[in-house]
Amino acid sequence: MSKNPKFAGIILAAGSGSRLGGTVPKQYQSLDDEPLLCHSVRTFLHCDEIATCIVVVPRGDIEQARRHLGELADKVTLIEGGVSRQQSASFGLRALRDLAPDYVHIHDGARPFVTAALLNDLTARVTPENGVIPALDMVDTLKKADTDGKIVATLDRQGLIQVQTPQCFPFTSILAAHEQAAFEGKDNFTDDSSVAEWYGLTMQFMRGDVDNIKITHGEDLERANRLLLMRKPFFPDLRTGNGYDVHVLEAGDGVTLCGVTLPCPYRLSGHSDGDVALHALTDALLATIGAGDIGSHFPPSEEKWRGAASDIFVRHALNLVRARDGRLANIDITLIAEIPKIAPHRVNMVAHLASLLDVDKERVSVKATTNECLGFIGRREGIAAIATANVLYPGQVPEGRMNHD
Ligand code: MG
Repeated sequence: MSKNPKFAGIILAAGSGSRLGGTVPKQYQSLDDEPLLCHSVRTFLHCDEIATCIVVVPRGDIEQARRHLGELADKVTLIEGGVSRQQSASFGLRALRDLAPDYVHIHDGARPFVTAALLNDLTARVTPENGVIPALDMVDTLKKADTDGKIVATLDRQGLIQVQTPQCFPFTSILAAHEQAAFEGKDNFTDDSSVAEWYGLTMQFMRGDVDNIKITHGEDLERANRLLLMRKPFFPDLRTGNGYDVHVLEAGDGVTLCGVTLPCPYRLSGHSDGDVALHALTDALLATIGAGDIGSHFPPSEEKWRGAASDIFVRHALNLVRARDGRLANIDITLIAEIPKIAPHRVNMVAHLASLLDVDKERVSVKATTNECLGFIGRREGIAAIATANVLYPGQVPEGRMNHD
């Protein structure tokens, strides 16, 4: 859809923003990783109704504004503001004199949550005879206090409303109102609808947007960041790790799998008690935080692990996962063995793992299969295990910003 040449927008960002703290002016402080001002500028630029957008920045600040706005700077007209909000607005209006749109939206750049819907509502209601402002009912009781904090009066809130921006006006009337105010030296209006009312233009209000907050203090910026986070689609940080291990079967008095010793005339040789299942599980857990494998944490060359119960390796990996606030969703272990028979011990294995991992049994799966007499497993030379772990970590999955440096 082509832009409607009847409407123009003015975004005011000429204040020093000293109440927000910090060394960067308010309009350039970061909201969701970009300057606050960019948010409302982008919304105005995306609005089909608005053909031209003026951004009013502090005097001598054009270059800084251009830098902060980035590619948006080329799509707006940057002009320098005045000594007050009122003067900055009048400079913005004068910059539109040659274009002479039918209507103009005037907005505070400190309200980053202006929406296209709000702009469209205002556009639909403004007429040559009246301007439109968004406003909210007063829900809190209003009181007047003296400078010592003592309450001196309770005010009647009946009929009172809180006014937001953007405010939409017939262009010729609001320009004339500002010119007349400047001519008469009236320079203490805090918004444009006040100038319009003083001039005699009829103003209507429509319901504003509760999220269209003005960023004034540091806590407003924190609230704004929280609001944006809530609006983002939530991607749970689910990570899957897998592990695989094989140990040699040799003559012995029992095979330990999933922490359970199965009586049989064999044992598993190698690292610790040779529990391939718990070794594979340790690798799977470590994989969810990119923390290497069991061998890098417990070198098989170290004598102290000889014969050790493999629970300690799983516990170590689990502690690393928990240190990152990870929550185990489920684990799945497949044992591949021709002997001994696993099925009679499966329930005990699940119980041992559920206790070791401190999760419900339904989150633990132990399966077994033979290798159909094929290969080294089929020849009963060894046992293999495959483990999968799903762990949820707090926070968002990062966006796919590839860094090719
Ligand atoms: Mg091993």
